[in-house]
Amino acid sequence: MSAWDTIVVGSGISGLSAAVVLARHGRRVLVLESHVVPGGCMQMFQRRGPQGGKLRFDVGVHYVGSLFSGQVMWRLFRYLGIDVPTRPLARDGYDHISTPTCDWDVPVGWQALAAKLRAMLPAESTAIDAFVARMAGIESGLNWHALNPEAEGAYDRTLWETSLGQYLQSLGASARLRSLLCAQSSLYGVAAGQVPLAIHAAVVGSTMEGPHYIVGGGDAITTALVARLRELGGELQTRAAVASATVHSGRVTGVKLNDGRELAAQEVILALHPRVAAGLMPPDAWRGALRQRLDAAPECVGMVCLYGTVSGDLGVHANRNHYLLRQDDPDCFFRPELQGPADAVVNFPPPAPGAPQQFTAMSSALWQWFEPWAGTKTSRRGPQYSQFKAALTARVMAMIEQRMPDLRGRMQVVETATPLTLRDYVGYPGGGLYGLQPSLLSQGRNGVRRRTRYEGLFVTGAGTGAPGVLGACVTGFGVAGTLLGSDRLIHAVRSETEPGAA
Ligand SMILES: Cc1cc2nc3c(=O)[nH]c(=O)nc-3n(C[C@H](O)[C@H](O)[C@H](O)COP(=O)(O)OP(=O)(O)OC[C@H]3O[C@@H](n4cnc5c(N)ncnc54)[C@H](O)[C@@H]3O)c2cc1C
Repeated sequence: MSAWDTIVVGSGISGLSAAVVLARHGRRVLVLESHVVPGGCMQMFQRRGPQGGKLRFDVGVHYVGSLFSGQVMWRLFRYLGIDVPTRPLARDGYDHISTPTCDWDVPVGWQALAAKLRAMLPAESTAIDAFVARMAGIESGLNWHALNPEAEGAYDRTLWETSLGQYLQSLGASARLRSLLCAQSSLYGVAAGQVPLAIHAAVVGSTMEGPHYIVGGGDAITTALVARLRELGGELQTRAAVASATVHSGRVTGVKLNDGRELAAQEVILALHPRVAAGLMPPDAWRGALRQRLDAAPECVGMVCLYGTVSGDLGVHANRNHYLLRQDDPDCFFRPELQGPADAVVNFPPPAPGAPQQFTAMSSALWQWFEPWAGTKTSRRGPQYSQFKAALTARVMAMIEQRMPDLRGRMQVVETATPLTLRDYVGYPGGGLYGLQPSLLSQGRNGVRRRTRYEGLFVTGAGTGAPGVLGACVTGFGVAGTLLGSDRLIHAVRSETEPGAA
């Protein structure tokens, strides 16, 4: 008998969620993580601040949606048995959008959004109402988002094969309306012409309905999930890179680690980038056509990410994120250039008690820019890399100072990450922001399959569904549902997490 029923490879939100759900249902679960700390994109890192004190920065948890009482992220956390401290963003405008000709705040709630857009563009009221109704309808059709096993959105091809751009065109949306509705596309990392309607509705919809900061950052989620897993008899090992899933006679038998160890299990779940997962499985684990589609599917645009501190009061910038776009067409984010101020998505997380206010500013970047250093290791990339990073940092700061002039001279950059950082710390080949692009080419019928040809061998993670903490968590529940029975698990989550239930 093997020591473990289930081995989960990768300790991002999807892997940890799947592990905790399965442990709750009686499985003995081991999570293996190659990095020195768990969490994947939820990991945080420490740097010395300008005043000398130590600061902790978030890699990939700046704000999370659907966290008001009774909403889906709130319910999934409850079912996992973790109590994560959160703080809502501004209801009148959780995301502030700034383009060369327009500044506006996205309010919380689809209906509030519709009312605001109608006031801005009264001649387009019909298109606005149709759009908002369609988005809300799509969300309620996604069974895990609606926690409704009868919802059939996953089978509605139009949701996965129509792009946001095509849909807006069919509504006759003006360039201005398109600009307003697509400005949050960096939340999923795909231009309007390539993102399926279902991805826009799920990702933007969740932020629109319940945007919250996670107080304490990604650590607050990771630490709570690891503690919960151990409480349920499970285990996590870090510095445990898996080299391959082992198989025999059509079923999985366990995993082989880079350090030579072999661990046996009845089930193995690969909770990581699908391309990395494919490299750990036998070549015939997925059908040839799926492998070919995966080979051809593009990665998300890369990211340069600035981390730093802000002195003084944030004033009007508090409790909202800022999308500073260099053109009115939000697709500019996916066409980064090396001249002039760069697009920036700026976030101001709530500071820890006694710590200075921090900021994060993300800007898009092409992998090709960093290819000269692809063979180098972190902190050993040489002076030219440092100079290049400094130049990119200056261009992002130029945009922030242009659009938020009251912050000029008050922001100090402590660290800048590049696509190479993401490649080396989270294992995304090509360092794309969310890994695999959730585009028409890798969703719906073209999507990565959870099941493989080998009994007991499964794949999960953001790349098998939607990006983001909620999207990846849903894929973790999804794969657990594949093992336990999806309908049963959805019902259990629903019935055990009614607001007010003990
Ligand atoms: C810069 C940035 C900002 C973001 N901002 C937000 C935000 O504000 N809100 C939000 O909701 N989402 C945000 N996201 C997205 C979100 O964080 C991710 O989509 C989500 O956390 C991904 O989770 P995952 O479970 O798919 O796995 P990942 O987090 O990708 O984790 C995969 C894990 O697998 C491990 N691994 C890889 N190979 C092996 C191996 N061979 N053996 C063992 N372990 C292995 C990796 O080390 C990693 O820990 C952001 C992401 C980034 C990068």
